[in-house]
Amino acid sequence: MPEIKHSVTTTTRYLRIAVDVPLYRCFDYVLPSNCDMPATGSRVQVRFGARQLTGIVIETDCQPSIAPNKIRAIDAILDDHAVFTPILYDLALRMADYYHQPLGVVCHTFLPSKLRQPKTIAQTVTPHYQLTHIGREAADQPQKSTKQTAVLQWLKSFGTTDSAISRVDCLEHIPGCGSTLNAMVKKGWLAETHVPQGGIQAQKTAPAKNLNDEQQAALDAIKSASMNKRHTTLLLDGITGSGKTEVYLQAIDQVLQQGRRVLVLVPEIGLTPQITQRFLSRLNARIGMLHSGRTDITRADTWLAARAGQIDVVIGTRSALFAPMENIGLLIVDEEHDAAYKQQDGIRYHARDMAILVAKLHHCPIVLGSATPSLESLANAKRGRYQQLRLTKRAGIAKPPTMQVVDMKDVSYKSALSPPLLKQMREHIDAGQQVLLFLNRRGYAPTLYCHQCSWAMECSNCSAHLVYHQKDGRMWCHHCGLQAERPKSCDNCHSEELIELGFGTQRIEQDITQHFSDTPILRIDRDSVRKKGELERLLAEIQQGKPAILVGTQMLAKGHHFPNVSLVGVLSIDHGFYSSDFRALERMGQLIVQVAGRAGRGEVPGKMLLQTHQPHNTDLQTLLKTGYATFADKLLAERESALLPPYSFHALIQLEAKTAEMAETVMIKFLHAWQRVNANLDAAFLGPIPAPMPRRAGMQRYEALIQTGNRGVLRQALAQWLEEVQQINLPSQLFWALDVDPTGHY
Ligand code: ADP
Ligand code: ZN
Ligand code: ZN
Repeated sequence: MPEIKHSVTTTTRYLRIAVDVPLYRCFDYVLPSNCDMPATGSRVQVRFGARQLTGIVIETDCQPSIAPNKIRAIDAILDDHAVFTPILYDLALRMADYYHQPLGVVCHTFLPSKLRQPKTIAQTVTPHYQLTHIGREAADQPQKSTKQTAVLQWLKSFGTTDSAISRVDCLEHIPGCGSTLNAMVKKGWLAETHVPQGGIQAQKTAPAKNLNDEQQAALDAIKSASMNKRHTTLLLDGITGSGKTEVYLQAIDQVLQQGRRVLVLVPEIGLTPQITQRFLSRLNARIGMLHSGRTDITRADTWLAARAGQIDVVIGTRSALFAPMENIGLLIVDEEHDAAYKQQDGIRYHARDMAILVAKLHHCPIVLGSATPSLESLANAKRGRYQQLRLTKRAGIAKPPTMQVVDMKDVSYKSALSPPLLKQMREHIDAGQQVLLFLNRRGYAPTLYCHQCSWAMECSNCSAHLVYHQKDGRMWCHHCGLQAERPKSCDNCHSEELIELGFGTQRIEQDITQHFSDTPILRIDRDSVRKKGELERLLAEIQQGKPAILVGTQMLAKGHHFPNVSLVGVLSIDHGFYSSDFRALERMGQLIVQVAGRAGRGEVPGKMLLQTHQPHNTDLQTLLKTGYATFADKLLAERESALLPPYSFHALIQLEAKTAEMAETVMIKFLHAWQRVNANLDAAFLGPIPAPMPRRAGMQRYEALIQTGNRGVLRQALAQWLEEVQQINLPSQLFWALDVDPTGHY
């Protein structure tokens, strides 16, 4: 595109633009004289170096910060209105500050991918239909065409509500009715309107439940805050199946009745089909969904619909946080402890923490819900920053599950299923129930191991073993995606005695088949649900409630409501005891409670069997005997005495380079920069050390940990250090990132 020529005059107007480049500043551009000034928060197309980029207008009519004749003009204004709401823009500023990231990068992180491209974009509109007066009359008469009759009757079944039904819904309900719809519009039986796509008009068809006292108290607390437009963080600490979702739904209903909007975050797409269905049947609202399972176009449509005020409730994963809604009256973060809320690349933001900020900016309450709250949230509740609301009983008739430990010392290492577990599986299956087996490892066998010399097959790019997948008979790296032939012999001693060591979900599936030849086995892990729609199909099959054995990873552990699962077997969680990550125990406890919570959600009481080599571990005993709250208290006390988060603050510097020398040299420069500017601050630079996974995808990985007892000091130290780091010349082929409040393995 040719550069727009302009001459500088006294009437030349300038704007400041944030572009998606890793530089801590915004850039000045000239407004072409034939253009009206775009609103702050609009997208424009600009030339940056040799590239055409999308920019966000940050400031209009600003004073140029460099010589005016050096400033280029913008190439195009992409939107008629700002895509950012003022609050969203405010959020971007605060996030840039908190995570020490360039504003342009933050702004672009907010946008759905379609809107990041320098193109104008219009909402997709889809036809919607509604019976006219004569259409209603026709519906009462017998019609010759069966398709017409079907359409008339179906539309009539919605009554005289003023919402129209989308063409997509019609086609789904009455396949092949497209030309019938067109003909009926011509006849005047149907009114056709064009409604922007993005949201679904939900109709309340299921009634609200009568809340128990604890639920009612929780609802009242939320209601009082939202009525008074008061920001407060409520920690809804309710055991699995205690009716947290029921409380959310009734609270949302209240807020919608005040004419305000609601944002609901859920940790993973695996949870969304069920929760979405429940929301759709309980709210009279326009609901928009934002998660990675939707196409880029639908996501952009939903985003624009939210911006245009056409959506009342947004439900989505992490990035749904950035839905540009105005007038939010309530935010909900379901399963707030879930690690999926932390973004692990790009800007490493924590969606729960940022959701609290959004609630603050909207002066509204936020509910963090969990059966196993994070230690961070529990510590905040203890300090009185969050209001803790407890639900201690299961809602309805369901009872909490009982738990039993199986000592694996007594079981041959060759089998992953202990005799007590097999026996109970048989009993529950024979009684017509479903059994869920949880295992945190997909594939067949995590290691291929030489019987003679202990050689194990490793990935050539990563410090990790290759995992054997029986289905394709190949070895896979779960970190970089590398695939290799299964070796016939040991690389080291050429022995042909290679043993498949350990168990993955595929191997468990195969083992169970031998014991339960005529019971359906449903395996749910990332490999088995790769095909689109497969997860929904498997979940629907489970919902039918016929006897079956479900084998799965995390995907199966969280949030699901399977009324017929009465027995849960946890096959191995022992890595939680040995991990170098100080959060591993917390995660293990949460996982055990969450998995157990899948049992006994219907009429039959639930039971969990936990297989472990550490049956006497005191943390495990605390968890099983006295419950998650005491377990969490114990861990919190340990964190406090060790000065670990949430009693101190961390940031992690992560660095990858082609060679270890290059990585170390740069890390040492980082350390020296730290010492130059932060020597008198009470913040430690620990490292550099090799990352827990020192090599991945061919890159050498190092890290350094920043630790301090004070949030303000962390902020100041990082800001000063980053200024200094800007002066360092970095080699190409080197990547580094800063993770403020890191939560996991790098
Ligand atoms: P959670 O979100 O805490 O796991 P849910 O809201 O999913 O719990 O509730 C678990 C089950 O109990 C659901 O089937 C729900 O419909 C039912 N339920 C919730 N609240 C009540 C209530 N007050 N009375 C009867 N059943 C309820
Ligand atoms: Zn060998
Ligand atoms: Zn690899």
